[in-house]
Amino acid sequence: MEYSILSDVYEKLESISSKLEKTHILADLFIKTPSDELPKVALLVTGRVFSTYSEYELGIATQMMIKAISKATGFSSEEVGKKFKKTGDLGLTAEVCIKSRKQVILFKRKLTVDTVFENLQKLAYITGAGSQDRKLNLIAELLVSAQPKEARYVVRTILQELRIGVAEGIIRNAIVEAFLYKKEMSKEEKNKMIATAEYAWSIVSDFGEIAKIAKEKGADGLKKVRIQLGKPIQVMLGEKAESIESVIKDFGKVAVEYKYDGVRCQIQKKNDKVWVYTRRLEDVTKQFPDLVEFCKKGLKSDECIVEGETLGIDIKTGLPLPFQMLSQRIHRKYDIEKMVKEIPIQMHLFDVIYLDGKTLFDKPFKERRKILKSIVKPIPKKFELAKQLVTDDVKKANVFYQEALSAKQEGVFLKVLDSTYVFGRHVDGWYKIKPIMETLDLVIVGANWGVGSRTKWLSSYVLACRDPNTGSFLPCGMMGTGLTEEQFKLMTDTLKELIIEEKGREVKLRPKIVVEVAYQEIQKSPNYESGLALRFPRLIRIREDKGPDEADTIERVNELFKSQGRSG
Ligand code: AMP
Repeated sequence: MEYSILSDVYEKLESISSKLEKTHILADLFIKTPSDELPKVALLVTGRVFSTYSEYELGIATQMMIKAISKATGFSSEEVGKKFKKTGDLGLTAEVCIKSRKQVILFKRKLTVDTVFENLQKLAYITGAGSQDRKLNLIAELLVSAQPKEARYVVRTILQELRIGVAEGIIRNAIVEAFLYKKEMSKEEKNKMIATAEYAWSIVSDFGEIAKIAKEKGADGLKKVRIQLGKPIQVMLGEKAESIESVIKDFGKVAVEYKYDGVRCQIQKKNDKVWVYTRRLEDVTKQFPDLVEFCKKGLKSDECIVEGETLGIDIKTGLPLPFQMLSQRIHRKYDIEKMVKEIPIQMHLFDVIYLDGKTLFDKPFKERRKILKSIVKPIPKKFELAKQLVTDDVKKANVFYQEALSAKQEGVFLKVLDSTYVFGRHVDGWYKIKPIMETLDLVIVGANWGVGSRTKWLSSYVLACRDPNTGSFLPCGMMGTGLTEEQFKLMTDTLKELIIEEKGREVKLRPKIVVEVAYQEIQKSPNYESGLALRFPRLIRIREDKGPDEADTIERVNELFKSQGRSG
């Protein structure tokens, strides 16, 4: 299939916002796609050439892409860089450059889905000496053969920024519409088909495979998918609860568990082989050799999938480290042994979903916990079961909650004893209770011009608190969420007037605008002048009634940080 068919579809998808229309367009594409190319196309529309859990990464940075576009089009890197600054999108930059390219192409092949897919995969396989040059050449070769529009999407795919606005649900529904719907089906029957596809996708999180099974074997094929150890499955999440009391009132006896603040790990074991996946199904086995060892020693069964939360531990105090410190271990590709020593971990297991060839999804939570207990040989302070209290006594549950907070954890989960394991967020399953954070009034002292559809807007903002002793403002976080389109526009218009200095996409601003922000928590951070960082700040409102001299002080932020009971 020609790649131009795909890039035309991408363009259409990019230009419309209706989910239903997007689904129809994708379903049409899937029907048109020849069988042998279907897995590739179904993966490409997710913006990837490897499934999420693959260890392969394309690893192409902005600068390399600029060089590749330069090589393919004859524009200098500076010229390409300038165009990039204007558009904020290297895909569009490539498109513009190719439209007006300086080099004459003598021989040009038409791009096919196969060539693009295979060459992009090749990028990930190139390693070792001279790999950067070889990657650059490969991208340039592709771009030489690309039509302008094709170049837009090849570049975006390589940079993993496809931006066609198709979320997982749309792709799933499109596969169902293409291969499972029959004209005479009732709405109920159609919903059943969607549930079947959803189930299959939770076990085989790869739309390439799902599309192939749906086309070749229909709904029966999807129903029959089985867990394959070495491939991650989707995970269950919690709902927010109003209070401990309300959950106990609704469900009676529940399991109250510490809500640990670390990294969720799905551990798969097959004899001597262990895999570790994050909640987003990334393979982090290599980053956690210590955890792999714990599993080999501490899991008594030959084949299983268990889940738990990994905490990073402060070697000096023995207390849990903030999530950001542990997250360094996830992203680390080298010096892993050093990291293992510097940031030791503790695993707290809370579920088992597969054991010796059988799935345990349908077993009630209380039974899964029993099974978990029976297959875990705890290693004290390293590999243990999550702390749990089964009770219907609100007072006892509250004491347990306070204990969890004093132990520097995030809060508690209340788990319904009879709940089955269903991926995603569901009612009647797991409920989370966390303290509500006080909001902060902070001053915006800087911002970044956005990328993609946000190029025209200042779209992420540097938040700062006030130092009453010096009158200066100390940055303590970056905010880019919680705003509507209108608010981005308004914010940009207001902030534009306050620009003091502009460097690339970054601007420094006169401190004038005060915003009220909520956040998940406050952490110590060397990255900000205040020494603290808000985690996931989001806009509550613009405080037009407040001037910068009324913004919250560094002392206040420090107080809130301490009241979370964190070490740091
Ligand atoms: P949230 O991210 O706030 O929706 O909370 C869900 C996350 O809490 C899960 O993905 C786990 O990483 C984490 N978690 C910590 N402790 C537990 C526990 N005892 N049971 C389930 N999830 C837990």
